[in-house]
Amino acid sequence: MSISQLARSIAESPTLALNEEARLLREKGEPVINMGIGEPKNKAPITAILSSAARLSGGDIKYTPPDGTPSLKKAIIRYTEENYDKLVAPENIIVSAGAKQSLYNILYSILNPQDEVIILAPHWVSYPEMVKMVYGIPVIVTPEDGTFHPRMEDIKGAVSSYTKAIIVNSPNNPSGELFSEEFIAEIVDFCEQRKIYLIMDDIYHKLVFDGRRAPPVYRYSDKDLESSMILVVNGVSKLYGMTGFRIGWVIAPRKLVQVMNNVQAQTTSCTSIVLQAAAEGALTGLQSVVENLRLGFENNRNVIIQELRSFTGIRVKQPGGTFYCLPDFRAYCPSSIAQDSEQLARFLLKKALVVTVPGKEFGMEGYLRLSYAGTIKEITTGIERIKWALDPNSPNEIYIGDRKLIRDWL
Ligand code: PMP
Repeated sequence: MSISQLARSIAESPTLALNEEARLLREKGEPVINMGIGEPKNKAPITAILSSAARLSGGDIKYTPPDGTPSLKKAIIRYTEENYDKLVAPENIIVSAGAKQSLYNILYSILNPQDEVIILAPHWVSYPEMVKMVYGIPVIVTPEDGTFHPRMEDIKGAVSSYTKAIIVNSPNNPSGELFSEEFIAEIVDFCEQRKIYLIMDDIYHKLVFDGRRAPPVYRYSDKDLESSMILVVNGVSKLYGMTGFRIGWVIAPRKLVQVMNNVQAQTTSCTSIVLQAAAEGALTGLQSVVENLRLGFENNRNVIIQELRSFTGIRVKQPGGTFYCLPDFRAYCPSSIAQDSEQLARFLLKKALVVTVPGKEFGMEGYLRLSYAGTIKEITTGIERIKWALDPNSPNEIYIGDRKLIRDWL
């Protein structure tokens, strides 16, 4: 079969692959705990359901403008004003099938072949692949001080005349790190000065803990939106736990939105009018939905950190947001159990029936990403099982489902 070189070079999405593996095991009746998955477990907000149901029952389900319905855009304008203190026009907005497509459209629209995009490790798995898919070159910058917080000096050292964009995701998937206000201010200033696009992946920006707030990026720029290099990506997936509705959007200068509009019109035409209605319902409905999710994740974060801190050899930084943490499992990697995080994740799935995501995928070998989007019971049982599988100080017997298992490999 003839497959293009480019398509062949694109990696499988490891998180989706692991989810599939877990689903198959569950189907076989195995009591798998999925700490790999990146989605909240709530039901969709009622306002989203009612709004899409009204559209469906009206029966008038047709194309929308490629960049989204005027009424959804109105809701996004209000959202942007409330959360970013920025007034944008409908022409500054383009709605896509999830933040994923928004990001892909941006990269497709701004990169020439061989242009470079700076990606800050630990980073979301899809960024480098998306950059490659439009013939760009991902340049991964890892903080040299071993923290999860990027440093301007490292970024400046990686910038070349080919650098077209820097992607910033705060709070961050996979580390949960919330980047400081000073950093956001500095990177905005740097990008505006150097005419490098600053792609703010703000998909988790309201899932922030400890009374903090994600610094709203426009505050640090004195440029008019039309001449600014800031592009903000957002969506309903994490904000309202509406991952299956596939609605995301970009706020950008009008000229760029026009180009992305052409790209989208020639590829997907538009996102579904039913799902746009759902997103509008969520955005205009009661926002306590978001606060309830956030509070739940903060509580879960406290539980998982407490559990991990009593785990011999594991080091973990307390996340400032999201529903992920990225503990350092290097103490358990160069051993008889696993040489790397991928092997370790496979080992944990096989022995303990817990899904985790290897840190290698995020540019952090020796780490595992654990999601705490599940229930408290799932979190405590999941960590107990991982401890049993790895930590010789933990009891060597455990019940997984109704099977009593004995650890005989340590
Ligand atoms: N950006 C980041 C950092 C993410 O973690 C995700 C989802 N895992 C996305 C974008 C994509 O979100 P969506 O469901 O809106 O496509």
